[in-house]
Amino acid sequence: MTISEQLLSWYKKNSRDLPWRHTKNPYLIWLSEIIMQQTRIEQGTPYYEKFVTTWPGVKELAEATEEEVLKLWQGLGYYSRARNLHETARIIMQEYDGKFPATYPNIRKLKGIGDYTAAAIGSICFNLPYPVVDGNVLRFLSRVFGIRESIDLAVTNGKIQALALEHIDHNQPGDFNQAMMEFGALVCKPANPGCVDCVFSGICVAFNSNTVGEIPARNAKATIRHRYIHYLVVTVSVGKDKFIFLNKRTGRDIWKNLYDFPSLEFSSDNKGSSLNEDDFNNLLCCPTPKFQQVSGPYIHQLTHQKLHGRFYHVHFDKPVELPYLLVPLHEIHQYPVPRLIDHYMLHHILMLK
Ligand code: SF4
Repeated sequence: MTISEQLLSWYKKNSRDLPWRHTKNPYLIWLSEIIMQQTRIEQGTPYYEKFVTTWPGVKELAEATEEEVLKLWQGLGYYSRARNLHETARIIMQEYDGKFPATYPNIRKLKGIGDYTAAAIGSICFNLPYPVVDGNVLRFLSRVFGIRESIDLAVTNGKIQALALEHIDHNQPGDFNQAMMEFGALVCKPANPGCVDCVFSGICVAFNSNTVGEIPARNAKATIRHRYIHYLVVTVSVGKDKFIFLNKRTGRDIWKNLYDFPSLEFSSDNKGSSLNEDDFNNLLCCPTPKFQQVSGPYIHQLTHQKLHGRFYHVHFDKPVELPYLLVPLHEIHQYPVPRLIDHYMLHHILMLK
């Protein structure tokens, strides 16, 4: 049996029953691919289901507001995926009359769709023989073929792409691609791969040379950027009602168009928790009232960044004008916010009421 036949036969018997495996609808496959990037299946599946229920087709997604899309995406991280998803839905409506493009170059041209996603959509939905090469595939093929160079190098990546292209099944490219990814995820895992029962143990170079633990090789890890963000949570009483000030992030950063609180950011911890009211005066354009409460650090780890958030609560007991968005406290959950803010609100928002 060829590698391709073995993979397809294994896939038939062992693939997981996932909601997007019952369709070739390009909208649904696209949605699943974007949601599952850098996301575990268990975490991403409920998001996929929420998206499909809320916006069953590309037209409905295009008609949503970006804020609604970001809100439903909240908690998944990498928000540029959500912004691109929404923008691409609009492009498909305007330029392709609502019909998902069916050629690789046209799919690849869409915003937020790289080689990998274009190959996945093209092969699964339109039977186009383009191989997908994600982390699972890189690991599986580099072990089977004994590729010892770092998979972070473009040249190694190209070599593995070429191997995938050589072995892709032209009649079932979608199943072949999914089989490779599934095999990497379930059997040829990063740690403790199932070599003993593996259908490829006879030909696998890594297994037969006892180098499974060394392949795939990686470059040294990129350094992590630490960000120390001090948030000022400002509430205000107007009569019997309570309001809170939100800051809409409009700059080009990972949280573009999400909401948080007025903040000061540092690249080192030299300030620690020692900020005082005066440090925030410029943010509010008026003297900052005394802190009512200071939270311990909230830590959130992203791939290349580690966020250290600290929250300071102040309250105005009469109306005040500040250069931020004033919203009723009970409506705060309608706004899309970064994970760090969501965590803080989970623990503290009731106390602010
Ligand atoms: S023998 Fe081990 S390393 Fe080789 S393909 Fe199978 S699971 Fe992966």
